[in-house]
Amino acid sequence: MKQRTRERRRRRRKRQMMQAALCLAVCVAGITLMAAVWHVTSFALRRMPGEKEPDQEEVSADPATDRLQETFREQDASSTAQKEDILLVNKTHPLPENYTPSLKRMNDYGADVDEQAYDALNAMLKAGNKEGLSFWIASSYRSMERQRELLDEDIEALVHQGYSYSQAYEEVVRETMPVGCSEHATGLAVDIVSKDYQILDEQQGRTDEIIWLQKNCSQYGFILRYPEGKEDITKVSYESWHFRYVGVEAAEEIMSLGITLEEYLDSAE
Ligand SMILES: [Zn+2]
Repeated sequence: MKQRTRERRRRRRKRQMMQAALCLAVCVAGITLMAAVWHVTSFALRRMPGEKEPDQEEVSADPATDRLQETFREQDASSTAQKEDILLVNKTHPLPENYTPSLKRMNDYGADVDEQAYDALNAMLKAGNKEGLSFWIASSYRSMERQRELLDEDIEALVHQGYSYSQAYEEVVRETMPVGCSEHATGLAVDIVSKDYQILDEQQGRTDEIIWLQKNCSQYGFILRYPEGKEDITKVSYESWHFRYVGVEAAEEIMSLGITLEEYLDSAE
């Protein structure tokens, strides 16, 4: 009998040890899983969508530029930009007065642009630089207050010449957009010029920089916003230098068909 009791005790001890070992294994697995989940979520939270990868911050050598372009293309391809997400701003579609874009500074140009367009613009200008071209950003984000000041200055000048206020206003808004109607208030539009020729005139369109931009901008999600011959639709005269970010998909369609943003947004899916 004693022999059997010992045997039973021995088995019970063995069972208890097995249970303890199993419990320990489950605990270790649980902790490992929690650590893994924490690691993944904290990494995801640190990198919000649209944010650049840390190694993109320092871009100087060519391989880094290539990486920047590569990453930009991947980001853009994976973005789910819908037609209805594309902002239309023109004389009949003013921005709401409280519209405030999230701006990011292009340090090399002292220009502020919407963060959605930042990587694309950088990639585009760097690709042009590699072709030996030098750009300057003549105008980027412009606040609605600044737009109002520009209009007022021009109106005042005409009033001094004897125009009535309403005549002066009508005259001025032919060339300068009314407040809220300028794409520059979105931060998505930039006036890019040749660094060697910075005048906004007809000659600008014949510079190597503008010729290259008009040919290549769509690859980076930009369109020539006010093309020649489309003045009846855009209500703005041809501006060879005004580029607007709309995303690669829309840009490629618009530029390959030679249409305006208005026509693109009007057309059926
Ligand atoms: Zn412009």
